[in-house]
Amino acid sequence: MENHKPYRVLLYYKYVHIEDPVQFSEEHLAFCKELGVKGRIIVAEEGINGTLSGTPEQTDRYMDELRKDPRFADMFFKIDEADEPAFKKIFVRAKDEIVTWRFEEDVNPNETTGKHLSPKEFYEQLQDEDVIVIDGRNDYEYELGHFRNAIRPGVKTSREFPEWIRENLSQFKDKKVLTYCTGGIRCEKLSGFLIKEGFKDVSQLEGGVVTYGKDPEVQGRLFDGKLYVFDERISVPVNRTEEDVIISKCHHCGKPEDRYVNCANPWCNVQHFCCTECEDKHKRSCSKECEEHKDNRYVLEKELQQQS
Ligand SMILES: [Zn+2]
Ligand SMILES: [Zn+2]
Repeated sequence: MENHKPYRVLLYYKYVHIEDPVQFSEEHLAFCKELGVKGRIIVAEEGINGTLSGTPEQTDRYMDELRKDPRFADMFFKIDEADEPAFKKIFVRAKDEIVTWRFEEDVNPNETTGKHLSPKEFYEQLQDEDVIVIDGRNDYEYELGHFRNAIRPGVKTSREFPEWIRENLSQFKDKKVLTYCTGGIRCEKLSGFLIKEGFKDVSQLEGGVVTYGKDPEVQGRLFDGKLYVFDERISVPVNRTEEDVIISKCHHCGKPEDRYVNCANPWCNVQHFCCTECEDKHKRSCSKECEEHKDNRYVLEKELQQQS
């Protein structure tokens, strides 16, 4: 791969048995620190889920070393180029699951999962009028950008999906269902869950929207807005055929805006779309209450700027 930018962001996962996740994560953290990569890696008995950034040299070494382990020999890494490091710190943590679903009955995606579709297959099936498209992410990710006909997920975390699906999607069990998420990992279990719930025809976008956006043929078609990512970039473009489609709106004035900010009240911190004008007008706050809060960070920042 040719290097155009000074940094890379890697996204990867694998459902494979890891005997001792605690020990693994301790050793892996030491390895990452020695290498100098930054990011967030979750390890569980069921596998590994990571996103990290570093220079091309650092990330090349990371991928080489990881693939030396037979469990990860066929690991697929999604690679983005970036102008800056996408993380400030490195976390490697052992958890119960590599995505927190907490299903009543766990799903093993190596046994039960939806059919994997390539970007081209997914794009073709998206255009089928009768298809049901389920966004496997959270509502704030959907708001920034999504596939054109996808159903808005009424969830703030993955844990809320089972209830939301049972309450809202049960009538679609005989339909053809497509699911997608950022990098594919969430759909591995979500599609399996749908199958267990009685959905008869479930497919998932292999490699997620990240891979879809890079496909030279599909070029991100039918994805409106931007892709939410869990690093300092916050959003990345997907659709390379139509420029600057903004589907989200400023929380205050309603103008098209895809700039996510955190509420300046540190006790609230809620992420909302906010244009630069409204940022000043409303002190980067989501509500009147937050605007007037004594700990408002926007106010403190302005005071500091005036002093210097
Ligand atoms: Zn505004
Ligand atoms: Zn707020």
